[in-house]
Amino acid sequence: MVDKLYLVNPRGFCAGVEMAIKALSWMLKIYDETIYCYHEIVHNKWIVSKFEDHNVVFFDDPTEIPENSVVMLSAHGTAPDVENKFNSISSLTINSVCPLVTKVHHEAKKYTTNGAEVIYVGHKGHDEALGALGVSPDKMHLVENIEDVDKLEIEGDAALLAQTTLSLSEWEPIMNYSQDKYENLLMPRKSDLCYATTNRQSAIVEILDEVDAVVVVGSDNSSNTKALVNMVKNKGCEAHRIDNVNELKNLNLPKNIAVTAGASAPDHLVFQIIESLNPKKLIEFKHKDEEKYFPLPKELRNNVSTISDFLINLCDSENKPEIKQGIKNDKDWSATEALSSL
Ligand code: SF4
Repeated sequence: MVDKLYLVNPRGFCAGVEMAIKALSWMLKIYDETIYCYHEIVHNKWIVSKFEDHNVVFFDDPTEIPENSVVMLSAHGTAPDVENKFNSISSLTINSVCPLVTKVHHEAKKYTTNGAEVIYVGHKGHDEALGALGVSPDKMHLVENIEDVDKLEIEGDAALLAQTTLSLSEWEPIMNYSQDKYENLLMPRKSDLCYATTNRQSAIVEILDEVDAVVVVGSDNSSNTKALVNMVKNKGCEAHRIDNVNELKNLNLPKNIAVTAGASAPDHLVFQIIESLNPKKLIEFKHKDEEKYFPLPKELRNNVSTISDFLINLCDSENKPEIKQGIKNDKDWSATEALSSL
Protein backbone atom coordinates (compact mmCIF):
# COMPACT_ATOMS: atom_id res chain seq x y z
CA MET A 1 0.00 0.00 0.00
CA VAL A 2 1.43 3.38 -1.01
CA ASP A 3 1.14 6.08 1.69
CA LYS A 4 2.47 9.12 -0.10
CA LEU A 5 2.67 9.58 -3.85
CA TYR A 6 4.35 12.62 -5.39
CA LEU A 7 3.08 13.32 -8.89
CA VAL A 8 5.95 15.12 -10.59
CA ASN A 9 5.69 18.08 -12.98
CA PRO A 10 6.75 18.53 -15.68
CA ARG A 11 6.25 15.01 -16.97
CA GLY A 12 4.95 13.39 -20.15
CA PHE A 13 4.40 15.04 -23.52
CA CYS A 14 6.97 17.64 -24.61
CA ALA A 15 6.36 20.22 -27.35
CA GLY A 16 7.98 18.01 -30.03
CA VAL A 17 5.81 15.01 -29.19
CA GLU A 18 2.68 17.21 -29.02
CA MET A 19 3.44 18.53 -32.50
CA ALA A 20 4.19 15.13 -34.06
CA ILE A 21 1.06 13.47 -32.65
CA LYS A 22 -1.13 16.34 -33.82
CA ALA A 23 0.50 16.38 -37.26
CA LEU A 24 -0.23 12.68 -37.77
CA SER A 25 -3.76 13.13 -36.45
CA TRP A 26 -4.35 15.94 -38.93
CA MET A 27 -3.06 13.72 -41.73
CA LEU A 28 -5.65 11.10 -40.79
CA LYS A 29 -8.36 13.75 -40.90
CA ILE A 30 -7.28 15.00 -44.32
CA TYR A 31 -6.84 11.62 -46.02
CA ASP A 32 -8.91 8.50 -46.18
CA GLU A 33 -5.99 6.47 -47.40
CA THR A 34 -3.30 4.74 -45.36
CA ILE A 35 -0.58 7.01 -43.96
CA TYR A 36 2.86 5.41 -43.99
CA CYS A 37 4.97 6.65 -41.09
CA TYR A 38 8.74 6.20 -41.28
CA HIS A 39 9.77 4.91 -37.83
CA GLU A 40 7.47 5.12 -34.83
CA ILE A 41 6.00 8.63 -34.74
CA VAL A 42 7.15 8.80 -31.09
CA HIS A 43 8.52 5.98 -28.98
CA ASN A 44 5.45 4.88 -27.06
CA LYS A 45 3.68 1.53 -27.47
CA TRP A 46 0.18 2.80 -26.65
CA ILE A 47 0.42 5.69 -29.14
CA VAL A 48 1.84 3.52 -31.91
CA SER A 49 -0.92 0.97 -31.44
CA LYS A 50 -3.59 3.71 -31.34
CA PHE A 51 -2.43 5.03 -34.72
CA GLU A 52 -2.11 1.51 -36.14
CA ASP A 53 -5.78 1.02 -35.30
CA HIS A 54 -6.55 4.10 -37.42
CA ASN A 55 -4.92 3.31 -40.73
CA VAL A 56 -1.31 4.27 -40.04
CA VAL A 57 1.41 1.80 -41.02
CA PHE A 58 4.79 2.21 -39.33
CA PHE A 59 7.80 1.00 -41.30
CA ASP A 60 11.60 1.16 -41.15
CA ASP A 61 12.60 0.22 -44.70
CA PRO A 62 11.69 2.74 -47.46
CA THR A 63 11.40 -0.09 -50.02
CA GLU A 64 8.46 -1.53 -48.03
CA ILE A 65 5.91 1.10 -49.06
CA PRO A 66 3.89 1.35 -52.28
CA GLU A 67 4.81 4.15 -54.72
CA ASN A 68 2.83 7.37 -54.44
CA SER A 69 1.99 6.79 -50.81
CA VAL A 70 1.38 9.56 -48.32
CA VAL A 71 4.33 9.53 -45.95
CA MET A 72 4.97 11.00 -42.51
CA LEU A 73 8.50 11.22 -41.10
CA SER A 74 8.81 10.78 -37.35
CA ALA A 75 9.72 13.29 -34.62
CA HIS A 76 13.21 11.81 -34.27
CA GLY A 77 14.53 13.22 -37.55
CA THR A 78 15.44 11.58 -40.84
CA ALA A 79 18.74 11.45 -42.70
CA PRO A 80 18.70 13.87 -45.68
CA ASP A 81 19.26 11.17 -48.34
CA VAL A 82 16.38 9.10 -46.91
CA GLU A 83 14.11 12.15 -46.91
CA ASN A 84 15.06 12.85 -50.54
CA LYS A 85 14.17 9.28 -51.43
CA PHE A 86 10.73 9.70 -49.89
CA ASN A 87 10.24 12.97 -51.73
CA SER A 88 10.86 11.12 -55.00
CA ILE A 89 8.66 8.06 -54.41
CA SER A 90 5.74 9.42 -52.36
CA SER A 91 2.80 11.56 -53.48
CA LEU A 92 3.45 13.66 -50.39
CA THR A 93 5.95 13.59 -47.55
CA ILE A 94 5.39 15.53 -44.33
CA ASN A 95 8.28 15.77 -41.90
CA SER A 96 7.26 15.98 -38.25
CA VAL A 97 10.84 16.22 -36.95
CA CYS A 98 11.19 18.09 -33.67
CA PRO A 99 12.80 21.53 -34.26
CA LEU A 100 15.36 20.74 -31.54
CA VAL A 101 16.53 17.72 -33.54
CA THR A 102 16.66 19.88 -36.67
CA LYS A 103 18.93 22.25 -34.76
CA VAL A 104 21.43 19.40 -34.27
CA HIS A 105 21.21 18.49 -37.99
CA HIS A 106 22.00 22.12 -38.88
CA GLU A 107 24.96 22.16 -36.51
CA ALA A 108 26.29 18.91 -38.01
CA LYS A 109 25.98 20.37 -41.51
CA LYS A 110 27.69 23.61 -40.51
CA TYR A 111 30.64 21.95 -38.79
CA THR A 112 31.26 19.32 -41.45
CA THR A 113 30.87 21.81 -44.32
CA ASN A 114 33.55 23.92 -42.63
CA GLY A 115 35.88 20.92 -42.56
CA ALA A 116 35.48 19.68 -38.99
CA GLU A 117 34.79 16.10 -37.95
CA VAL A 118 31.90 15.67 -35.55
CA ILE A 119 31.89 13.53 -32.42
CA TYR A 120 28.22 12.70 -31.92
CA VAL A 121 27.24 11.43 -28.46
CA GLY A 122 24.21 9.19 -28.78
CA HIS A 123 22.75 5.70 -28.61
CA LYS A 124 23.71 3.29 -31.36
CA GLY A 125 20.71 2.29 -33.47
CA HIS A 126 18.37 4.95 -32.03
CA ASP A 127 16.26 6.64 -34.74
CA GLU A 128 17.47 10.11 -33.74
CA ALA A 129 21.14 9.09 -33.90
CA LEU A 130 20.65 7.37 -37.28
CA GLY A 131 19.02 10.51 -38.70
CA ALA A 132 21.66 12.89 -37.36
CA LEU A 133 24.61 10.75 -38.48
CA GLY A 134 23.06 10.67 -41.94
CA VAL A 135 23.74 14.42 -42.31
CA SER A 136 27.38 13.68 -43.04
CA PRO A 137 28.11 9.97 -42.57
CA ASP A 138 31.81 10.18 -43.52
CA LYS A 139 32.62 12.99 -41.14
CA MET A 140 30.61 12.04 -38.08
CA HIS A 141 31.55 9.54 -35.38
CA LEU A 142 29.03 8.03 -32.99
CA VAL A 143 30.33 7.66 -29.44
CA GLU A 144 28.51 6.12 -26.47
CA ASN A 145 31.21 6.41 -23.82
CA ILE A 146 34.67 7.75 -23.00
CA GLU A 147 36.38 4.65 -24.43
CA ASP A 148 34.81 5.41 -27.83
CA VAL A 149 36.22 8.97 -27.72
CA ASP A 150 39.59 7.55 -26.77
CA LYS A 151 39.72 5.43 -29.93
CA LEU A 152 39.10 8.41 -32.26
CA GLU A 153 41.94 9.91 -34.24
CA ILE A 154 40.80 13.28 -35.54
CA GLU A 155 43.65 15.28 -37.09
CA GLY A 156 41.92 18.57 -37.92
CA ASP A 157 39.08 20.44 -36.22
CA ALA A 158 36.77 18.42 -33.99
CA ALA A 159 33.23 19.35 -32.95
CA LEU A 160 30.97 17.80 -30.32
CA LEU A 161 27.21 17.29 -30.69
CA ALA A 162 24.65 15.21 -28.80
CA GLN A 163 21.43 13.28 -29.09
CA THR A 164 18.82 15.58 -27.53
CA THR A 165 17.51 13.04 -25.01
CA LEU A 166 20.70 12.08 -23.19
CA SER A 167 20.84 12.41 -19.43
CA LEU A 168 23.29 14.90 -17.96
CA SER A 169 25.13 11.99 -16.34
CA GLU A 170 25.64 10.39 -19.78
CA TRP A 171 26.66 13.64 -21.46
CA GLU A 172 28.90 15.46 -19.01
CA PRO A 173 31.72 12.90 -18.57
CA ILE A 174 32.02 12.49 -22.37
CA MET A 175 31.96 16.25 -22.90
CA ASN A 176 34.67 16.82 -20.28
CA TYR A 177 36.84 14.03 -21.68
CA SER A 178 36.45 15.29 -25.27
CA GLN A 179 37.34 18.84 -24.21
CA ASP A 180 40.51 17.53 -22.57
CA LYS A 181 41.43 15.46 -25.62
CA TYR A 182 40.69 18.15 -28.23
CA GLU A 183 41.86 21.53 -26.99
CA ASN A 184 39.88 23.61 -29.49
CA LEU A 185 36.79 21.44 -29.52
CA LEU A 186 33.90 23.18 -31.29
CA MET A 187 30.53 23.09 -29.56
CA PRO A 188 27.19 24.85 -30.07
CA ARG A 189 26.58 27.83 -27.80
CA LYS A 190 23.32 26.31 -26.60
CA SER A 191 23.40 22.70 -25.39
CA ASP A 192 21.87 20.02 -27.63
CA LEU A 193 20.23 18.40 -24.60
CA CYS A 194 16.62 19.45 -24.94
CA TYR A 195 14.66 21.47 -22.38
CA ALA A 196 12.07 18.70 -21.88
CA THR A 197 14.63 16.02 -21.08
CA THR A 198 16.48 18.35 -18.73
CA ASN A 199 13.32 19.60 -16.97
CA ARG A 200 11.98 16.09 -16.37
CA GLN A 201 15.32 15.01 -14.93
CA SER A 202 15.75 18.13 -12.75
CA ALA A 203 12.19 17.72 -11.40
CA ILE A 204 12.73 14.15 -10.29
CA VAL A 205 16.13 14.88 -8.75
CA GLU A 206 14.53 17.66 -6.69
CA ILE A 207 12.04 15.28 -5.05
CA LEU A 208 14.36 12.29 -4.51
CA ASP A 209 15.06 13.01 -0.82
CA GLU A 210 11.34 12.62 -0.06
CA VAL A 211 10.80 9.22 -1.66
CA ASP A 212 12.08 5.63 -1.58
CA ALA A 213 11.33 4.77 -5.19
CA VAL A 214 10.36 6.35 -8.50
CA VAL A 215 8.00 4.94 -11.11
CA VAL A 216 8.74 6.22 -14.62
CA VAL A 217 5.98 5.69 -17.16
CA GLY A 218 7.22 5.16 -20.71
CA SER A 219 8.25 2.57 -23.27
CA ASP A 220 11.51 0.65 -23.30
CA ASN A 221 12.68 2.21 -26.58
CA SER A 222 12.12 5.78 -25.34
CA SER A 223 15.55 7.28 -24.82
CA ASN A 224 14.46 10.10 -22.50
CA THR A 225 12.46 7.62 -20.38
CA LYS A 226 15.53 5.43 -19.98
CA ALA A 227 17.59 8.52 -19.19
CA LEU A 228 15.15 9.36 -16.36
CA VAL A 229 15.45 5.85 -14.90
CA ASN A 230 19.26 5.93 -15.14
CA MET A 231 19.40 9.35 -13.54
CA VAL A 232 17.36 8.17 -10.53
CA LYS A 233 19.39 4.97 -10.15
CA ASN A 234 22.67 6.90 -10.40
CA LYS A 235 21.48 9.00 -7.48
CA GLY A 236 21.09 5.78 -5.45
CA CYS A 237 17.30 5.55 -5.51
CA GLU A 238 15.10 2.65 -6.63
CA ALA A 239 13.55 3.25 -10.08
CA HIS A 240 11.11 1.28 -12.21
CA ARG A 241 10.03 1.87 -15.81
CA ILE A 242 6.58 0.61 -16.69
CA ASP A 243 4.51 1.01 -19.83
CA ASN A 244 1.08 0.77 -18.25
CA VAL A 245 -0.98 -0.15 -15.19
CA ASN A 246 -0.79 -3.90 -15.93
CA GLU A 247 2.94 -3.87 -15.19
CA LEU A 248 2.37 -2.65 -11.63
CA LYS A 249 1.74 -6.23 -10.53
CA ASN A 250 5.44 -7.01 -11.06
CA LEU A 251 6.50 -4.33 -8.57
CA ASN A 252 6.76 -4.35 -4.82
CA LEU A 253 6.77 -0.64 -4.12
CA PRO A 254 7.73 1.07 -0.84
CA LYS A 255 5.35 3.43 0.97
CA ASN A 256 6.65 6.76 -0.36
CA ILE A 257 7.07 7.05 -4.10
CA ALA A 258 7.19 9.58 -6.93
CA VAL A 259 5.60 9.06 -10.34
CA THR A 260 6.82 10.73 -13.50
CA ALA A 261 6.65 10.01 -17.24
CA GLY A 262 8.92 10.20 -20.26
CA ALA A 263 8.25 12.80 -22.95
CA SER A 264 6.21 10.44 -25.14
CA ALA A 265 4.01 8.84 -22.46
CA PRO A 266 0.30 9.83 -22.48
CA ASP A 267 -1.00 11.20 -19.19
CA HIS A 268 -4.06 8.94 -19.03
CA LEU A 269 -1.65 6.00 -18.51
CA VAL A 270 -0.14 7.86 -15.55
CA PHE A 271 -3.56 8.41 -14.01
CA GLN A 272 -4.58 4.77 -14.47
CA ILE A 273 -1.46 3.83 -12.51
CA ILE A 274 -2.22 6.32 -9.74
CA GLU A 275 -5.80 5.12 -9.52
CA SER A 276 -4.64 1.56 -9.17
CA LEU A 277 -2.05 2.46 -6.50
CA ASN A 278 -4.72 4.41 -4.62
CA PRO A 279 -2.24 6.27 -2.37
CA LYS A 280 -3.38 7.62 1.03
CA LYS A 281 -1.97 11.01 0.08
CA LEU A 282 -1.42 12.39 -3.44
CA ILE A 283 0.89 15.41 -3.63
CA GLU A 284 1.44 17.41 -6.82
CA PHE A 285 5.09 18.42 -7.03
CA LYS A 286 5.96 21.12 -9.55
CA HIS A 287 9.53 21.87 -10.59
CA LYS A 288 8.57 24.47 -13.20
CA ASP A 289 5.98 25.33 -15.83
CA GLU A 290 6.54 24.49 -19.47
CA GLU A 291 4.93 26.63 -22.12
CA LYS A 292 6.83 25.70 -25.24
CA TYR A 293 4.84 25.20 -28.42
CA PHE A 294 6.14 23.94 -31.76
CA PRO A 295 4.00 24.73 -34.80
CA LEU A 296 2.89 21.97 -37.16
CA PRO A 297 5.28 21.03 -40.00
CA LYS A 298 5.28 23.86 -42.53
CA GLU A 299 4.32 21.52 -45.39
CA LEU A 300 1.13 20.72 -43.49
CA ARG A 301 0.39 24.37 -42.67
CA ASN A 302 1.25 25.83 -46.07
CA ASN A 303 -0.08 23.14 -48.31
CA VAL A 304 -3.28 22.12 -46.67
CA SER A 305 -5.42 23.72 -49.44
CA THR A 306 -3.22 22.31 -52.18
CA ILE A 307 -3.15 18.92 -50.53
CA SER A 308 -6.90 18.84 -50.23
CA ASP A 309 -7.37 19.98 -53.83
CA PHE A 310 -4.82 17.50 -55.12
CA LEU A 311 -6.48 14.58 -53.42
CA ILE A 312 -9.97 15.98 -53.47
CA ASN A 313 -11.51 12.63 -54.30
CA LEU A 314 -9.84 11.06 -51.33
CA CYS A 315 -10.96 13.73 -48.90
CA ASP A 316 -14.26 14.49 -47.41
CA SER A 317 -14.64 17.91 -49.00
CA GLU A 318 -17.15 19.02 -46.36
CA ASN A 319 -14.37 18.77 -43.79
CA LYS A 320 -12.00 21.10 -45.63
CA PRO A 321 -12.93 24.41 -43.96
CA GLU A 322 -12.88 22.67 -40.58
CA ILE A 323 -9.44 21.23 -41.29
CA LYS A 324 -8.03 24.59 -42.40
CA GLN A 325 -9.49 26.37 -39.39
CA GLY A 326 -8.26 23.65 -37.04
CA ILE A 327 -4.73 23.76 -38.38
CA LYS A 328 -4.73 27.54 -38.04
CA ASN A 329 -5.78 27.25 -34.39
CA ASP A 330 -3.58 24.27 -33.66
CA LYS A 331 -2.10 25.91 -30.56
CA ASP A 332 -5.46 25.54 -28.81
CA TRP A 333 -5.62 21.80 -29.49
CA SER A 334 -3.63 19.30 -27.43
CA ALA A 335 -2.16 15.99 -28.53
CA THR A 336 -4.37 14.31 -25.93
CA GLU A 337 -7.43 15.81 -27.63
CA ALA A 338 -6.04 14.82 -31.03
CA LEU A 339 -5.66 11.20 -29.89
CA SER A 340 -9.18 11.17 -28.42
CA SER A 341 -10.57 12.53 -31.68
CA LEU A 342 -9.31 9.57 -33.74
S1 SF4 B 1 12.24 15.12 -26.10
FE1 SF4 B 1 13.06 17.12 -26.71
S2 SF4 B 1 14.05 16.75 -28.68
FE2 SF4 B 1 12.71 14.99 -28.29
S3 SF4 B 1 10.79 15.53 -29.29
FE3 SF4 B 1 10.64 16.25 -27.17
S4 SF4 B 1 11.29 18.41 -27.24
FE4 SF4 B 1 11.99 17.43 -29.13
